[in-house]
Amino acid sequence: MRNIIVIFSMIFIFGCYPKNETSTPIAKLGMTSGTPEPLRHGKAKNVILMIGDGMGVSQITAGMIKNNNRLNLERFPIVGLHKSYSSDNLITDSAAGATAFSAGVKTYNGAIGVNPRKKPVKTILEECEEKGMATGLVSTSTIVHATPASFIAHQPSRKMYEEIAADFLKTEVDLFIGGGKKYFDRRETDERNLYEELEEKDYYVSDYFKENMSAIKFDPNKNFAYFTADDDPLPVASGRDYLYGATRISTGFLKAHSKGKGYFLMIEGAQIDWGGHANDANYIISEMLDFDKSIGAVLDWAEKDGETLVVVTADHETGGFSINLGTTQDTMVTEFTTDYHTAEMIPVFAYGPGAEKFSGIYENTAIYDKIKKALGL
Ligand code: MG
Ligand code: ZN
Repeated sequence: MRNIIVIFSMIFIFGCYPKNETSTPIAKLGMTSGTPEPLRHGKAKNVILMIGDGMGVSQITAGMIKNNNRLNLERFPIVGLHKSYSSDNLITDSAAGATAFSAGVKTYNGAIGVNPRKKPVKTILEECEEKGMATGLVSTSTIVHATPASFIAHQPSRKMYEEIAADFLKTEVDLFIGGGKKYFDRRETDERNLYEELEEKDYYVSDYFKENMSAIKFDPNKNFAYFTADDDPLPVASGRDYLYGATRISTGFLKAHSKGKGYFLMIEGAQIDWGGHANDANYIISEMLDFDKSIGAVLDWAEKDGETLVVVTADHETGGFSINLGTTQDTMVTEFTTDYHTAEMIPVFAYGPGAEKFSGIYENTAIYDKIKKALGL
């Protein structure tokens, strides 16, 4: 009997902790190194939600084909599917799609953190703030664009960029990185300078025009805001290169800044969607691979720390994108059925404590519920 208890204790001890395997060279190249331990048990201390805007299965497949048939997404042990429709349309937009993730409500297309009656709904970011956790938002669009906005702002329309920017000042968000500086410091609807207001509110505020993000020495006691562009950041093919660095900086910063209380971080690969709207397969692929590189950085991080739930998904598919007969790794033969979004179900990838909750088929709003459960909120 005693031996059995010892064996069970060992299974418990070793079964619940991450294997501290050192990275293989192939993992360092940003490619898959096989399926890691799923770390399915216990509570998640931190959550990193990664949203590839417009990233359907075809977008993932196209990136995979171009990348020697491998992606970091293959490293996730748990895969599910979500139903992306909004409250007023079978075809969602990014505002309703992100509000489903951030607040667990189906709402109308264009809604930023409000329900179908246009009433504000509390977001996971705000709930984590209330619990004393640190929070962060990173995007390759403007930081006031629909996806990041839906985690922090409450406005009846996604087009209200200056109102959304002002909502950032009503929160205690600890870190944000993205474009859209002009909505903070050259506003048309009022005389406020939110860049200066952030500085007064104890943020270290900086931007692409002033200094390189990776050269900044962080003070973990201050909040951090960094603008990567005046308006929309460039496509990666035109020289944008910050997502990977921003990913590494934000995970390190939030860990130090949260002082052991845990954090919530949303990282968006925003322009996979823009490639879909433009019906441009090369645009989709380059953005997909840029996003996947950051996914690799997050997984490397989560594998080491063992207490972070990582969820990767998309709000919807964009373009009705298909990969057709005649495609080779060098030559993609592709077609689009629309320049807007489609209704197809969207994959969800999960790793870390609570990951097992993400298998199966469920509503997009369930992602909010599952994250909350994983955090024990
Ligand atoms: Mg977006
Ligand atoms: Zn879109």
